[in-house]
Amino acid sequence: MIDASLLDRAVEVLASARRIVAFTGAGMSAESGIPTFRDAGGLWQRFPPDQFANWKGLTRLAERDPRHLAEFLEAVVAPLAAAEPNAGHRALTELARHAEVTVVTQNVDGLHQAAGSPIVWEVHGSLVDIVDDDGDTLFVLDRSRLRHLASRLGRLARQSRASASGAFALALRRFYGRKGGRAYRPSIVLFGDAMPELAWSEAVDACGRCDCLLQVGSSTTVYPAAFLPAQARAAGAAVITIDPRPGDGDALWLSGKAGEVLPVLVRRAFGDRGNSA
Ligand code: NAD
Repeated sequence: MIDASLLDRAVEVLASARRIVAFTGAGMSAESGIPTFRDAGGLWQRFPPDQFANWKGLTRLAERDPRHLAEFLEAVVAPLAAAEPNAGHRALTELARHAEVTVVTQNVDGLHQAAGSPIVWEVHGSLVDIVDDDGDTLFVLDRSRLRHLASRLGRLARQSRASASGAFALALRRFYGRKGGRAYRPSIVLFGDAMPELAWSEAVDACGRCDCLLQVGSSTTVYPAAFLPAQARAAGAAVITIDPRPGDGDALWLSGKAGEVLPVLVRRAFGDRGNSA
């Protein structure tokens, strides 16, 4: 249950905003069936980030324990292959019909684009955008390729250790590998990687210019992305947070799920024109 007076104030702020940034994290896609990493039962409990969230750790696992790596990749890819945008994604798309909305997302799932948001900057890259050494896109994995990949990874995770090693590169070849001397991989940003130049500079610019930032489903613990809401606030923007966690003393913290709170907020801010979610 959202606090009614907080909601009233958030509606007022949103309705009067001209330039809005929606800064989204893993919680934005939780209702689409993609688990967050840090919540109870999240991926980091089963797959520690020091081994699974950097290229060095992943490369070592590919050589030494491909079955374990396949298990991790299946846990990441299978929910994404089945995911559809939720009511929260659709509410942000609707919001963009009434104000200038820039989505700055830490997510790698492509669901804001699938929901039709016109401006989306992926500051942690994308799992479906396969790039070469220079960062140029080679191809985009569609849902059917993702499903195929998830099922091969699932079979691999259950194979014997010896046969898993041999089959690993084959299972992953649409996703990660080398061809004609060039490496290719998803454009995701792991720990230790540089931020993608264009997406990051556009995100910083949008956060410096907005008058309202909606922070949705982010623990704001992954830097430098987590600096962005503070940057917007320092430049004079109002920050509205939507997250089921209890508020941290923030004036406009709406405790609730993205797919429940965002449609109400947008409908209330823009009346009958506000929401088709
Ligand atoms: P996080 O896992 O650290 O935090 C998730 C936040 O979402 C928490 O504050 C949690 O309370 C909140 N949350 C949970 N369910 C919610 C819901 N239904 N509605 C609104 N909020 C909800 O996520 P993070 O801060 O985004 O950082 C983790 C990193 O992992 C990011 O880089 C992110 O890109 C990546 N990641 C991406 C995906 C994805 O692409 N869908 C999924 C998991 C993690």
